[in-house]
Amino acid sequence: MGKDKETRVRFAPSPTGHLHIGSARTAYFNWLFAKKNQGKLVLRIEDTDAARHVEQSLESLTHALRWLGLGWDEGYEAGGGSGPYRQSQRKAIYAGYAQKLIDAEKAYPCFCSPQNLAQQRQQAEKEGKTYTYNRCCLNLKRSEVQERIAKGSPYAVRIQLPHRHKIHFEDTVYGNITVDTSQLDDFIILRSNQLPTYNFSATIDDALMKISHVIRGEDHLSNTPKQIIIYHLLGFGLPCFTHLPMILGEDGRKLSKRHGSVSIEAYKNQGILPQAILNYLALLGWSYTGQQDIFSVQEAVEKFDLSRLHKKPARFDHQKLLWINGCYIRGMDPDRLAALIAQRMKTGLKDKDLRTDWDRDLEKKIKMIVPLIQERIKTLDEAMDWIGPFFCKVSYSQEAVHFFDRKKTDAPLVLQKTIEALENQTIFSGPNIEQNLRNLAQEMDLSLRNYTQVVRMALWGNKVSPPLFETIAILGKECTLHRLKNYLEAITAKT
Ligand code: GLU
Repeated sequence: MGKDKETRVRFAPSPTGHLHIGSARTAYFNWLFAKKNQGKLVLRIEDTDAARHVEQSLESLTHALRWLGLGWDEGYEAGGGSGPYRQSQRKAIYAGYAQKLIDAEKAYPCFCSPQNLAQQRQQAEKEGKTYTYNRCCLNLKRSEVQERIAKGSPYAVRIQLPHRHKIHFEDTVYGNITVDTSQLDDFIILRSNQLPTYNFSATIDDALMKISHVIRGEDHLSNTPKQIIIYHLLGFGLPCFTHLPMILGEDGRKLSKRHGSVSIEAYKNQGILPQAILNYLALLGWSYTGQQDIFSVQEAVEKFDLSRLHKKPARFDHQKLLWINGCYIRGMDPDRLAALIAQRMKTGLKDKDLRTDWDRDLEKKIKMIVPLIQERIKTLDEAMDWIGPFFCKVSYSQEAVHFFDRKKTDAPLVLQKTIEALENQTIFSGPNIEQNLRNLAQEMDLSLRNYTQVVRMALWGNKVSPPLFETIAILGKECTLHRLKNYLEAITAKT
């Protein structure tokens, strides 16, 4: 490939479901490569497999890409000079090239029925041989072929494989690869329903869309020799090939649904940030000197280098993704974090018993809460757990009601004294409340820990809460007193 050629890469998803983490990595690496080389990223939709095609997933795919910040320069929805960019709208192009190959005797119509082919396959299996097409249609007379076509007999189109020919190519990750055509058979390029097979449509499109670098998953490595045959037969120049190592689950098996949520959609719902996903994806299968784990997209663009990709499959480590997400949450502007949390409030707290005044000054309250929880959360979902009791009614489990042993901590007395102290509190701010309640604990001869545990249980129904004094200030006097009284009632009623 000439050095002066424009860098053009493509992401070519098949719309069969939500954007999977593996495909997101492919999209990201293509995007990084395009940015690094001032090239163009094309989004092509490979939707010719009607049986697997799910139209709604197209929207979900583009939404996920945009949410991740992976925009494309050309292609589906963006337009450009090599469209249409949905393969289902390019059938005539594929049929034209198939005919061209037939005319040049580099491909031929195959009238074998699916039953006949299945029999051939079974026979090979019985004999312990690898199935290859027996080429019976290659030997049909030209007149017979024409007669059958004229009669409307359905036919597929097969490549006529060059004899004993070695295909060489260099993959950026897997190095020099050589495949002997005797290991292949006359593979189908156009099915009898006139739809192209993946290898044919992908090759034609990569050539016509002037793709300079094909960067895709390792699962397509075995397809590349067939695609190179098509490039050669049609006289197209080859792109550079890079196959990205597989992503395995923590159990060493190919990452899939069995490993839990693996779609970008699911991560988004859990409250993982797009920056954290991109950061984590950049660590999958690629390394550079420096060993730092956290880097911005801009840094990733600067450092990205295909020659640093590993051959070894990458392991998906969910805990590490969470850790990275926590780093991004901690580094975020608190007002931005408050806005994201506010957005999630309605869905995050649905089914919960909300305080009747819960949406009063919502944004303002969340902005006050964020400094208390920002250091503690790893996902936006976790923020909901911390934030819930600010906005929802608190109820006391049996464990909470029986938590304090009267002989060790006189919880009712602590509650009564705290109620009195807070009723008299004029300035209801964190520091003032802290001073007041610290004095009270001292007066009662209680360690701060033992004292706050009682108040915390009353306010939160739980041993753990955000920093207590600030929490009380945000809850407000009325709500705090109400909860202290409720808890007092609950623990007195048990005795
Ligand atoms: N549609 C193929 C896939 O989703 C794309 C393969 C390729 O990039 O060539 O796996």
